[in-house]
Amino acid sequence: MFDLAIIGGGPAGYTAAERAAQRGLTVVLFEKKQLGGVCLNEGCIPTKTLLYSAKLYQNAQTSSKYGITLDLLAFDYEKIVARKNKIVRKLNAGIRAKMSENNITVINGEAAIKKATTHIEIVCNNELIEAKNLILATGSSHVIPPIKGLDSTSFWTNTEALEIKSVPESLVIIGGGVIGLEFAGLFNTFGTTVTVIEMAPEILPGIDSEIATLLRTEYAKKGITFHINAQVQEVTNQNVIFATSEGTESIAANQILLSVGRQPYLENLGLESVLLERFHKGVAVNLHMQTSHPHIYAIGDITGFSMLAHTASREAEVAINHLLGIDDEMNYGAVPAVIYTNPEVAGVGATEDALKAKGNKYQVAKLPMTFSGRFVAENEGGNGLCKLIFNEQQQLIGAHMIGNPASELIAIAALAIEQELTLEQFKKLIFPHPSVGEIFKETLFSL
Ligand SMILES: Cc1cc2nc3c(=O)[nH]c(=O)nc-3n(C[C@H](O)[C@H](O)[C@H](O)COP(=O)(O)OP(=O)(O)OC[C@H]3O[C@@H](n4cnc5c(N)ncnc54)[C@H](O)[C@@H]3O)c2cc1C
Repeated sequence: MFDLAIIGGGPAGYTAAERAAQRGLTVVLFEKKQLGGVCLNEGCIPTKTLLYSAKLYQNAQTSSKYGITLDLLAFDYEKIVARKNKIVRKLNAGIRAKMSENNITVINGEAAIKKATTHIEIVCNNELIEAKNLILATGSSHVIPPIKGLDSTSFWTNTEALEIKSVPESLVIIGGGVIGLEFAGLFNTFGTTVTVIEMAPEILPGIDSEIATLLRTEYAKKGITFHINAQVQEVTNQNVIFATSEGTESIAANQILLSVGRQPYLENLGLESVLLERFHKGVAVNLHMQTSHPHIYAIGDITGFSMLAHTASREAEVAINHLLGIDDEMNYGAVPAVIYTNPEVAGVGATEDALKAKGNKYQVAKLPMTFSGRFVAENEGGNGLCKLIFNEQQQLIGAHMIGNPASELIAIAALAIEQELTLEQFKKLIFPHPSVGEIFKETLFSL
């Protein structure tokens, strides 16, 4: 009997497997497709690899602003995708090596719970495997909304959009969330006419709305068309029909990309044999990632909240620590979120919108990114914003930014929130000069 069985080999599952094996537990990991899950195979890594090519291309297009002239500028999208595939293969091999170095038994197949009492029975490839504990890490799948005509229309989700060999002439993206915006930036850079349709009053719901508006303005300047407060009603192979407060509109599209969100993936998991408590569409857990069964944990997208790879791997650590009797729990207040657009957007902790809605008192300090000399040096004509939010005790509770490299800088704010730093303590940090991180210091002293 294994000490621990894990179903799902994405960032949640493989991190849990590694941490548990490092602590001496015997571990079996079931994965029905590829180790690395959505994140490595059709999510985080492939998108960021393609976006890096887009960023290089965009930098080359604007190089004359920096005194560099290029005579011939071209891209080969097939090569860009081939490079993406190479990176995915390389990182996949890395995960497989880690599993084997740690003596983790990896079984390729779809696993289902058969029985869960004092120990757990799992069936995979017609074999019965027993374990003392189980971690569910089956991730999520994309939501397909009930839009008229969708079942008879060809459309992409993120999976298909990552595999194409040439870029479409025009693309309508249904859903202006994180995934939709990353693809909007990618295809716009390579010359596609991009339209984004978002049902909410602003793109990137859940992200600081002032920052989201800035990104929309920036992307509109690059030629992306946005329809917000707009609900798609029908699609055909040629058109997307949507309703706004002003009536019904129709736009033509070569291609449609559907990105309206993701939901926990629980299919064929045998949950009927264990009846775990549910939370919305996911599996309910406490702050130790334990489900309503004391020997079953659930981590990553299957829980239905946060839905980020770094949340998944931290949840994996928390679950393993709890299983080993080590005191640890999740702090969702300090999980950074990044949108890898160009300019990048990043945020952590409370947003002004949420605090206002709750009627909480708070203080905001904000400055344009151009208060950082390094930002000005490296972003000719560029703009951006750094916004820091403090509670009544003057502790940092939120940080939101637009401007490169927000994806790297946000971890500093996450650390400050996790450590419950006050304004005065945060002010004492020394940032290298010149660095874009100095924007934190400038913003803090502006209060
Ligand atoms: C286009 C896109 C871009 C993204 N970019 C980012 C990003 O930049 N940063 C970020 O933090 N997050 C990003 N995400 C989200 C991120 O991919 C997920 O949060 C992360 O993959 C969740 O990890 P997980 O381990 O919970 O699930 P997954 O990665 O979904 O892994 C679950 C695994 O379980 C397997 N499985 C399911 N059922 C069974 C079964 N019964 N038996 C065996 N195996 C099973 C699946 O095959 C899958 O491999 C992105 C997502 C998408 C779609």
